[in-house]
Amino acid sequence: MGAKTDHLRQLLGEIFDLNAASALLSWDQQTYMPPAGAEGRSMQLATLSKLSHDMFVSDEFGEALQAAQAEVAGQPPEVDDAALVRRAARDFDKQRRVPSEYVAEFTRLTTLAHPIWEKARADANFAHFRPSLEQIVSMRRDYAAFFAPYDHVYDPLLDDFEPAMPTKQVKAVFDALRPQQVELVRATAERGRKVSDAVLHRAFDVERQWTFGVEVIRKLGYDFNAGRQDKSVHPFTTSFGVRDVRITTRLDPKFLNPALFGTIHETGHGLYEQGIAVHLDRTPLATGTSMAIHESQSRMWENFVGRSRPFWVAFYPRLKKLFPESLGDVKLDDFYRAINTVEPSLIRVEADEATYNLHIMLRFELEMELMSGTLAVKDLPEAWNTRVRDYLGIAVPDDAQGVLQDVHWSFGGFGYFPTYALGNLVAAQLWEVIEKDIPDLTSQIERAEFGGLLGWLRDKVHRHGAKFYPDELLRQVTGQSLTPEPYLRYLRAKFGEVYELH
Ligand code: ZN
Repeated sequence: MGAKTDHLRQLLGEIFDLNAASALLSWDQQTYMPPAGAEGRSMQLATLSKLSHDMFVSDEFGEALQAAQAEVAGQPPEVDDAALVRRAARDFDKQRRVPSEYVAEFTRLTTLAHPIWEKARADANFAHFRPSLEQIVSMRRDYAAFFAPYDHVYDPLLDDFEPAMPTKQVKAVFDALRPQQVELVRATAERGRKVSDAVLHRAFDVERQWTFGVEVIRKLGYDFNAGRQDKSVHPFTTSFGVRDVRITTRLDPKFLNPALFGTIHETGHGLYEQGIAVHLDRTPLATGTSMAIHESQSRMWENFVGRSRPFWVAFYPRLKKLFPESLGDVKLDDFYRAINTVEPSLIRVEADEATYNLHIMLRFELEMELMSGTLAVKDLPEAWNTRVRDYLGIAVPDDAQGVLQDVHWSFGGFGYFPTYALGNLVAAQLWEVIEKDIPDLTSQIERAEFGGLLGWLRDKVHRHGAKFYPDELLRQVTGQSLTPEPYLRYLRAKFGEVYELH
């Protein structure tokens, strides 16, 4: 370890502390803060983020960074110092290119746009949101221009969420995936047996749901000594360092899925953050390397594990015991099929495993068209509805259940959506390797033993934190770049069996 890099690490540590304090305030805002605290909280958060940003883009930081860069020159990212300097340099370069007037103006615009979007959605009235969205799209194009030259105008936006992942790579993967996934969904509807999730919509006491969730995630390996679970309207995971990683869930007395699968999903995120090597703590490497890799972890635990038959061989007897009135008459096989029901629907966050990516791909395509200017904001609802019909085979009754449903565009989060689908693909790529490396994985899961799986993920993925860029990590672990084939194999095998498609 060199002295210059140590100096950089010290500055990064202070910035990390400020960001962790912000994250703690945000966590509190979404869990325990009384409503009247909102105004004061927004000022506290603004002050902290200004302090952190000013420290980061300062000349002092720039000089420390340059000195450290010289010190680690030529070292590969396997070396912690080199990875740290590389990541810090990347973030520094990105932030320095964006003028502070732009940041202030964009923050102002999106802060105002949020309640406008909320009202537009409540009234199912796109016209009300349209002027704001036009400004947001225009400012996102300005943002991309700060990073010119680029191959695609969408590249700089995607890069904020998925470091070093070019648009054309994602587009090629989605183009290969989409027709096959559309065909699979069509097959379940036209040729499959009848599957229904009605039994999941019975009465489920929320305290017992909470109890069951905690029992499950303890078994999965979530460490309550370095984390906790609370309730929030929108479930999320946050971290203030690798020794304090928190998750939230929400409970619905008439639907088992939100708490059950939501809790497992957030635990997947939490296990990733808790598994990062302790010596990376208080640095920008003490986090998941990208949104897609993060989502690969949450979705693997939620779907590949939590929606699998072996998992319910282990846990269904206990669930049945907790809810004898609602599940007493439901056999394991029927429960398994219920949690794997495929049903094209309008709302992304309620979509099942087989249709989910279709919701994402249509958003990705529309975002690219908006950014490159081939689609005007005024024509967006029609373009949306057409794609929903083509991909999911259903009609959109109004914009609240269509183009206005997601919050992302109101805060300017273009480039965010594709990472959800990429997470599914990455999970499948990793899963195929895991199945080879742990031949008795199925029987381990049937015995509620997750140490083998978690140990594998810790070793191959978690401990590295953000040392490697997503594609580097993927190639290192699977020997391959991003590819849709493993996910398609997984979907076909699973839903072919559930729906008896031959
Ligand atoms: Zn997630």
